[in-house]
Amino acid sequence: MHEQQPAPACDDMADVLIIGGGLSGALLAAQLLRRPGRRRLLVVEPRGELGRGEAYSATENGHTLNGNAARMSVDPDNPDDLTHWLQQQIDAGQWPESAEQGVPVAELFPPRGLFGRYARQRLAEAERVGAKAGSTLEHVCTEVVDLQVHDDRVQAQLQDGRRVQARQAVLATGMFAAARTAQVGENSLNAAAIDPWDVAAMRTIDPQGTVLIIGSGLTMVDTLVSLQLAGHRGPVEVFSRHGLWPHERRQPPPWEDFLEADPSLRSPRQLLRALRRQCRLALAQGIDWQAPLDTVRVHIPRLWSQASDRERRQFVRHVRPWWESHHHRSPPQGAALLERLRQEGRLHIHAASLQRVEPATGAGVGVRLRFRGEAQATRVEGAALVNSTGIEYDWRRVARPLPQALLQRRLIRPGPLALGIDVDPQGAVIDADGAVSTRLFAMGPPLRGLWWESTAVTDVALQAKGLAARLTREPESSP
Ligand SMILES: Cc1cc2nc3c(=O)[nH]c(=O)nc-3n(C[C@H](O)[C@H](O)[C@H](O)COP(=O)(O)OP(=O)(O)OC[C@H]3O[C@@H](n4cnc5c(N)ncnc54)[C@H](O)[C@@H]3O)c2cc1C
Repeated sequence: MHEQQPAPACDDMADVLIIGGGLSGALLAAQLLRRPGRRRLLVVEPRGELGRGEAYSATENGHTLNGNAARMSVDPDNPDDLTHWLQQQIDAGQWPESAEQGVPVAELFPPRGLFGRYARQRLAEAERVGAKAGSTLEHVCTEVVDLQVHDDRVQAQLQDGRRVQARQAVLATGMFAAARTAQVGENSLNAAAIDPWDVAAMRTIDPQGTVLIIGSGLTMVDTLVSLQLAGHRGPVEVFSRHGLWPHERRQPPPWEDFLEADPSLRSPRQLLRALRRQCRLALAQGIDWQAPLDTVRVHIPRLWSQASDRERRQFVRHVRPWWESHHHRSPPQGAALLERLRQEGRLHIHAASLQRVEPATGAGVGVRLRFRGEAQATRVEGAALVNSTGIEYDWRRVARPLPQALLQRRLIRPGPLALGIDVDPQGAVIDADGAVSTRLFAMGPPLRGLWWESTAVTDVALQAKGLAARLTREPESSP
């Protein structure tokens, strides 16, 4: 297993410095270790274990992947990799609760914590392969707070005052979960809110008290699971701008790839019209509407990168809420819980936007919300408040040292529509003057503006493979 080490001395040059050791950083390291040649890798990651990051550090079995095993392999060349690994775990008695799902292994939705173990194991195997060629991986357990890019190297300042340097560096800093990220110009939402994944904190809520949740996407589904595990049995009021929530993920049959058949469909409006037509066709044949929808996914990066900024804005404004609730679907267990709570009359999901958090009159919390169609804001009180607004993609709003330092040094600029940062199609970072770096790269969620979908397991697995190939070419060669 990789060594967790004190940071090496500054003159100890690494080949690649990976900033962030979540799933992206771990998969990139694994790809680099498996490539021919001898290289020295440094991964700077404050968490004790590589490969987990925000998503796969989950400790509750109820917080599962939102896709089944057959869709979540970390090996782009072997889609069955996770299914086989899970089968071994189940045979070894490592996940007895899997039987409760009552489906074949490929259709299981594993806990995210277990998936984190899988990612770590695949990294450990790659380390053994790399060690045979003399390659090494060191995990430096802290945070990068600043970065300088020179002609021949990148130098990183660590939180503890030390510095490390490498020939190339990769920003694999992932998602900044809104609930856990201090934000520039922050309203008091996070100060008043409970963490969506903190089951222990939820045990302190009055079990019969009303819980207010801001945001109605997959983080809200996780929150419902956390509340349930914490023994909460009171009302839950959810508020989001459109009042839409994730559909249940089912396993639809294959459907013709209609975008492949008609590549002339380009604008968001055309896409939506064609997709609706396909969904109607499917339903008329008694086929799940999720079948045509699932064929769209592979085309999203192409459609998004071809679109003009105007079309992208149209998509974000008119299609995004719909896309989020239909495409980013809920695992069946979460969907069943949500439905049950609605049926019991305990859960209500409202179309309303948060105006501000206000001091509570009693022990709980107060928020002012504007409900859709109403001119005046209304005050709502509850026993507790949860911030389930998901991810902050605009780095200018992330009050963390590294994003702010990179912006100040003009080493990065916001990506299209201020989603993540600007990079070229190979992941080379573009600075504030438009120069494409040959030393600094990025992968995963920071590439949201370039590809729109750049966060899921399959996205980062593919990017890790492509970027490893790019990094193992000569750094001076043009990207
Ligand atoms: C709660 C949650 C659930 C998810 N569930 C799914 C799912 O079911 N299926 C799916 O396909 N996708 C899911 N995702 C998407 C998920 O983000 C990706 O699958 C993947 O985890 C992204 O990995 P990452 O390493 O890029 O980001 P992250 O997991 O966010 O990891 C980034 C790492 O970088 C580190 N870091 C940040 N800044 C610095 C710094 N300055 N110095 C050093 N280290 C730093 C952080 O500590 C973190 O560990 C989920 C995301 C979240 C947040």
